Amino acid sequence: MKGLILGGGVTGLAAGLASGVPVLEASGGPGGICASYMKEGYRFERGGGHWLFGLDDALRPMLEAASPLKTYRRKSAVYFAATGLKVPYPLQYHLRCLPRAVARRALAEVGRGGPARTMRDWLKAWFGPTLCELFFEPFHDRYTAGLHARVAPQDSYKSPVDMRQARAGAAGGAADAGYNVEFAYPALGLGAMTGAFARRCDLRPGSAVRGIDLGSRRVALGDGRSLAWDRLVSTLPLPVTARLCGWRVPAAEAPFTSVLVLNVGAARGPRTPAEHWLYVPDAASGFHRVGFYSNVDASFLPRGARGRTSLYVERAYPGGARPTPIEEKAYAAAALAELRAWGFIGAADVVDASWVEYAYTYSLPGSTWRARTMARLAAEGILPAGRYGRWRFQGICESLHEGLAAGAALRAA
Ligand SMILES: Cc1cc2nc3c(=O)[nH]c(=O)nc-3n(C[C@H](O)[C@H](O)[C@H](O)COP(=O)(O)OP(=O)(O)OC[C@H]3O[C@@H](n4cnc5c(N)ncnc54)[C@H](O)[C@@H]3O)c2cc1C
Repeated sequence: MKGLILGGGVTGLAAGLASGVPVLEASGGPGGICASYMKEGYRFERGGGHWLFGLDDALRPMLEAASPLKTYRRKSAVYFAATGLKVPYPLQYHLRCLPRAVARRALAEVGRGGPARTMRDWLKAWFGPTLCELFFEPFHDRYTAGLHARVAPQDSYKSPVDMRQARAGAAGGAADAGYNVEFAYPALGLGAMTGAFARRCDLRPGSAVRGIDLGSRRVALGDGRSLAWDRLVSTLPLPVTARLCGWRVPAAEAPFTSVLVLNVGAARGPRTPAEHWLYVPDAASGFHRVGFYSNVDASFLPRGARGRTSLYVERAYPGGARPTPIEEKAYAAAALAELRAWGFIGAADVVDASWVEYAYTYSLPGSTWRARTMARLAAEGILPAGRYGRWRFQGICESLHEGLAAGAALRAA
């Protein structure tokens, strides 16, 4: 069997570890969006803060062999910039933090449910007009770059609706809930973890796949080489894999967003939050989330740094619509000015932008494109794996599991 793995992010690395099969990676190193880098002594991540949610005992030894792990208890909140009000996440379980009349109205509306064709309909049905107007609508408009009005509901576990929790939260009994109450992170950094995986894999950096020939069963690389295969694991985004096979993909069938991550090292401000990250529905500069690497772990800061903070600021764009360098510069200046005005940071030591072309993937209501494409690939001996390969929302741990399973399937073939 001649197997190949396309993509050296966490999914491809896991598949490579489980199979020993070559991993073709377009860029110069491993990790995909889970890659760390250093700038002015700060450690940043290419895709913004990446925390390990849902780590189970099956994965733990593999991760700990790469780096010791530390565990953290989530501190996150919704931040309303207009009023400065902070409400712990999930908002719907902390209604007592809202003005009393708003909380009473919201509690009467939450949890009704009902049929919903789009994500926006789903949010309205479950959270009602008061919370939607206040948070869910403006936040999701930014987070999905407007797609929430068109795409099918998904990831509902990120917005849980348990009426017992909502009532308890309204009455004052705060609830720690949601999908990521605890998370882990490699003590040596995410890059150290993916680097350790890569050393135990047959990773081939600088191997950009330009075409998959289904007739001759060869993969063409950007540098003119071609490699034979009879089984492929593809961790590339599903529409990319389909196009590499020469198939037409109607753009509307595979909606996605891109994310511009601003990595910032700065002096602490007078009101630097203590949270790990904040969801922001009303930032004038357009970002939807700001996270604080250094509130999770001081190892993100330059050694011996005093009075510093490091953060990632995420703004979503319609898939592939990268702003021009001038637009990007103007946005970065506006975002920093806003964070300074809120008192979150002082003067910046370093600002570095990173573009995640495929960030969040969606499906249209009733669309069968995803299932049909995966079945067609399977019939050709191509197994899609990972968050982008299978075009569904999932975190690192799930992606690692899928990579390991795909690698085992390659080994068994
Ligand atoms: C903004 C954001 C924040 C997130 N935060 C978290 C978090 O906190 N916790 C969590 O668990 N998950 C988080 N995730 C999800 C997590 O990033 C993914 O589950 C995981 O990184 C998917 O890894 P992957 O290997 O499947 O994909 P990728 O990392 O995209 O890897 C694909 C690889 O394929 C390579 N490639 C692309 N084209 C080609 C080609 N033609 N030829 C060869 N190689 C190619 C790319 O260079 C890349 O290395 C987040 C995602 C986003 C977008």
